[in-house]
Amino acid sequence: MIEESTAFDLIRETTPPCARSEQCPLSASLGRLVAATVVAKLPVPRFANAMVDGYALPEGRHGEGTTFEVIGEQPAGVDRGFELRAGEAVRIFTGAPLPSGTTAVVMQEDVVDTGRGRIRLAEAIREGEGVREQGDDLCVGQQLLEPGDRLTPAAVALLASQGMASVTVRPWPRVQVLSTGDELKPVGAPLQPGELYESNGLMLCLLGETLGWPGWQQRHLMDDPASLRAAIAEAADVNDFLILSGGVSVGDHDHVRSVLTALGFEEHFWRVRVQPGKPVLFGTLGECQVFGLPGNPVSSFVSFHLFVASAIRQWLGQAPQIRVQATLKRSVENRGNRPHYVRGLWDREKQSFVAVGLQRSHGMLGLSKANALARLPETSVLDAGDEVEVLPFGLG
Ligand code: AMP
Ligand code: MG
Repeated sequence: MIEESTAFDLIRETTPPCARSEQCPLSASLGRLVAATVVAKLPVPRFANAMVDGYALPEGRHGEGTTFEVIGEQPAGVDRGFELRAGEAVRIFTGAPLPSGTTAVVMQEDVVDTGRGRIRLAEAIREGEGVREQGDDLCVGQQLLEPGDRLTPAAVALLASQGMASVTVRPWPRVQVLSTGDELKPVGAPLQPGELYESNGLMLCLLGETLGWPGWQQRHLMDDPASLRAAIAEAADVNDFLILSGGVSVGDHDHVRSVLTALGFEEHFWRVRVQPGKPVLFGTLGECQVFGLPGNPVSSFVSFHLFVASAIRQWLGQAPQIRVQATLKRSVENRGNRPHYVRGLWDREKQSFVAVGLQRSHGMLGLSKANALARLPETSVLDAGDEVEVLPFGLG
């Protein structure tokens, strides 16, 4: 049995970053992770333009009462090539290119039309007012996105504003979930005595989806070495990650580890000093990173969060899971000699945590109400008001 920190080190050391990338059209790129640095091809603004509807003014006096002759009109979308001289103004509209010689654009609300093609400033205006300079936001060659950035609506819009039709992204990991157990039946089938419904397969796929990694496949297998062997070999061949649920402990029907070993699995660890999730197994089969998670639903859930998600983050080049400090609302204790990840409610505003439901590895009700795990150190008695380390679900 190894320490949690050793398990995290081993995941870091043995999970390579994803070496593939793909082109993704902007319309399908929301939420994708950028694979290559993106630099600006166009300055923003692309040309100096008017910030307001009004009049472009040349260098010179801009005090209250100054008058100008309006020599023409410059709309947005064309460049009429005006050149301003002293005492002249050009009627201009928001976003229109500035006539050469413009040093300020006065809002039309601050101008009096005195007739015969002349205007008068109702208020003084400062040099540079009403003007957006070329490149004042960003210039050509400036870095816009770096590898690992997640594409948000605004980031996608930034690329669109650069005229880019697609972006180089990391592929989503190809993930196969295999749940094992003779006692498990698919939802909808009648249950015989001793049987229960299979729920980990769906849970693990949905956990992937909530963390932003869609498209996982799932299958259920019996505790039969031959069929396990065939399914594992086939899945490891075409996936980046294989997540097995159940059958990793030491029972007579726990075949996952021996089947993996027979297939040439390079084991990085088996059994971590943590609760729940102690029997967790991790290693590499060919190019595939393989996890064996204990079958109890809460154990599967917690070991997924701690270990599988860390490996996938590492593969994608994402930052590690966020851990925050929170104050306990109610006392909790961990009598065991392993750190215990309890399930509960984290209050983001109050930075507090309260354990919810039965803290046992089959306690799915509490798990379904929880939004975070809190780590209780081994043999600890913690009072209300004490600090704990919290891992919020689905963040970071
Ligand atoms: P195992 O880790 O295979 O020994 O499984 C331990 C217990 O977890 C089983 O006896 C079931 O009660 C439960 N379990 C295992 N796999 C699943 C699953 N896929 N869905 C729901 N419960 C499961
Ligand atoms: Mg089993």
